[in-house]
Amino acid sequence: MWIDSLGREELLAEHERQAAKYAQLKAEKLALDLTRGKPSPEQLDLSAELLRLPGEEYRDAVGTDCRNYGGLEGLPELRAIFGELLNIPVGNLVAGNNASLEMMHDLIVFSLLKGNPDSPQPWCREEKIKFLCPSPGYDRHFAITEQYGIEMITVPMREDGPDVHVIAELVANDAQIKGLWAVPNYANPTGAVFSEEVVQALVSMPTAAPDFRLFWDNAYAVHPLTETVAPVLDVLGMAAAAGNPNRPLVFASTSKITFAGAGVCFFGASTANRSWYLGLLGKKTIGPDKINQLRHVKFFGDADGVRAHMAKHREILAPKFALVQKILEDRLGPPKAASWTEPDGGYFISMDVADGTAARVIELAKDAGIALTAAGSAFPYRIDPDDRNIRIAPSYPSLDELSTAMDGVATCVLLAATERALSLQ
Ligand code: PMP
Repeated sequence: MWIDSLGREELLAEHERQAAKYAQLKAEKLALDLTRGKPSPEQLDLSAELLRLPGEEYRDAVGTDCRNYGGLEGLPELRAIFGELLNIPVGNLVAGNNASLEMMHDLIVFSLLKGNPDSPQPWCREEKIKFLCPSPGYDRHFAITEQYGIEMITVPMREDGPDVHVIAELVANDAQIKGLWAVPNYANPTGAVFSEEVVQALVSMPTAAPDFRLFWDNAYAVHPLTETVAPVLDVLGMAAAAGNPNRPLVFASTSKITFAGAGVCFFGASTANRSWYLGLLGKKTIGPDKINQLRHVKFFGDADGVRAHMAKHREILAPKFALVQKILEDRLGPPKAASWTEPDGGYFISMDVADGTAARVIELAKDAGIALTAAGSAFPYRIDPDDRNIRIAPSYPSLDELSTAMDGVATCVLLAATERALSLQ
């Protein structure tokens, strides 16, 4: 990093320059938010038609009265559309209500209370349960496992997915490891796309626990920022071919496609897992909101309808991601003050600042009116071992706001780095 080559005088001068810039930034009294990957109002407007659908109609193509109870697995037409996009046979896909996180949560609770189809006993009867957490990863995944006392083990995240050598070693020898969190396409927050080799290794590696599960959260399967979308691998087929048909539990939703608070979610799994899930779900509900599912069928028509819709999202999102890249490159590139991912899809950019400064950067930004995701969020128990990772969520602010916010973040990164270098001298 550039500051490592500065003498004390130069470093003091640089610190003063950045402190002056920061004082100017604070004087602007900003109120900007880069914390969560929320769709912007402009993106939500793309689905405005949903508010008028399904109109007077309430029957689906096979004549089901969607106003009534029933249909636990969700409307076949909607499952066919998303089965094609998620590479999951329609018979293996369940469509639910608005939150895939709720499905993930339920699957963990069901496993704790009842065990899954391959469990010798309910997970809660085991002395200890552990999950592998590729990190940086998604904070809300880690929050679910933390809430239920499941020990989380950090495994490194690479450009082509989690480190399968580390994982293979762990799962082969520890029967307490029951699961792994995964976001295979355009991961939150790094944007990594798991390679076919990584997926093959994950579905086929021997595990000490017979009931080990991949929590395969394909939240960003159809969310490219470029013209070509990364392939959605047939994880269920690959697992079945490897002799582990029950290993993957696949999740997705339309939260970043239509309305984040009023979309539809999906669960894909082997026939055994599907029956097990529906058996337990049927005690919780008589059926999902089929009117909302019908609304989505009418809105999209088919899988191409979803693809065309996602192209409109891309037109709004891609310039925001490009702007963040440009500001980071202009302000932090030449001094090598940080490194960051350049995702081809998804909702986030993951930035690594100077070791030991991420929490300080986030604090400085907060005091200047720029909210960033809390320090350590992308790691189990919110502990970033190097205190260097910051997740940037560019989707919600306007381009102008984003420009101001990112320029401010860059100032905070440089100020924190000079502060730290001075304290170490
Ligand atoms: N999974 C991932 C990886 C996410 O980033 C998000 C939203 N930030 C979700 C799930 C939330 O999904 P849902 O709205 O379907 O609960």
